[in-house]
Amino acid sequence: MNIAWLFVSILLILCLALLWWNRKLGRDNIALQNAIRQAREQAAQSDSQVELERRMRDTLIETLVDPVFFLDADRNITYCNTAAWQLTHGSAQPGRSLMEAMRSYELDKYVEDTLDGRSDLQHEINVEERLYRVHTGILNSGAAPGAVQGAVLILRDVSDLQRLGRARRDFVANISHELRTPLTTIRLLIDTLRMDGNLDAAQNSRHLDQISTQVDALTQLAQEMYDLSQIESGQMPMRMVKTPLHDLVESVMMRLTPQAERAGTILTNEITADVTALVDPEQISRVISNLLHNAIKFAPGGSVNVFMATKTASPVITEDTGATAEYLTVAVRDTGVGIARTDLPRIFERFYKANRPRGQRGTGLGLAIAKHIVEAHGGSIWVESVEGHGATFYFTVPREG
Ligand code: ADP
Repeated sequence: MNIAWLFVSILLILCLALLWWNRKLGRDNIALQNAIRQAREQAAQSDSQVELERRMRDTLIETLVDPVFFLDADRNITYCNTAAWQLTHGSAQPGRSLMEAMRSYELDKYVEDTLDGRSDLQHEINVEERLYRVHTGILNSGAAPGAVQGAVLILRDVSDLQRLGRARRDFVANISHELRTPLTTIRLLIDTLRMDGNLDAAQNSRHLDQISTQVDALTQLAQEMYDLSQIESGQMPMRMVKTPLHDLVESVMMRLTPQAERAGTILTNEITADVTALVDPEQISRVISNLLHNAIKFAPGGSVNVFMATKTASPVITEDTGATAEYLTVAVRDTGVGIARTDLPRIFERFYKANRPRGQRGTGLGLAIAKHIVEAHGGSIWVESVEGHGATFYFTVPREG
């Protein structure tokens, strides 16, 4: 009996132990499954993180306007952006060498030296008449520290910067040149007045007049430079009003009549009273004045006439509507010396002076100012001339109504 009880008790204990073990196993299994699920979720998360980062990097590289090349240690392209593809006219493609894509021994050598750690100097190369500054970054192998895996090459277009730098230097050189002549003349005249005790009153007065002329020239130069900078920086607001062009031309001609009479030049205004433009009258007067002033200067004894022309430079598109705006074309024609073919493309540049009849002064800024004013009205200005056969300047202004 006792043995039977003992047997039953052992069996019961065994059953309970088995039950406990089974439940523990179940719990462990759930914990294990949870851990596996968590690990899977984390892996998926990090995969999408890697994917996200990859897409961010690709977008960033694509957004760059600078050509970007990823190269391996042998300077073969492993990746490049659209800008690089465009620069090389489609030659830059993964698998091709940098030399094949860019066809620049100089650039290839520079990148080779950089990969070998032999060059960290700034470098610039010319590609199709544009100047690029070369930037490189070395990709080191993570597995073997110090081992070079490849490079990133970025080409930055610095042509505009270079052009601006040159324009600034030219500008300073031009100004100092323009200042030097009148200043030297004034210095000489003052020295003569100081040291030559034998000058009579008439000679003294003549010298003072000459000084006065030089000071006027300097004042005009300073004023024109200031105006040009104001117009160029958009700080001279245009006040557009309905303006009859005949009256505007007439008032400028009246002002210049003494100069025309001295030169023996006949001025004619052929614009009819019904032509009305939407312009800043003060500024457009200045354009007409600069053109007439030149015409009188370069056509002594000849004639100058202002009339409405039918030709246009090119259709003028308004910025806000995209529609072709109605523009009027004003022409100023003279019978003077004309302009040489080689000078024609340059006469609207600041300080550019072509032919210069004896004794004629000028700053070389008049046409540059005229161009800026006309462009601020959305119009354009151009010239047609055959050397020895006069010149015709055209400019367009918005029609009123
Ligand atoms: P400037 O003060 O020298 O007249 P502009 O900018 O007005 O400066 O003109 C630039 C150059 O263009 C002049 O030096 C001249 O050589 C040329 N030019 C301008 N207008 C005429 C014209 N009507 N006939 C011949 N040449 C002209």
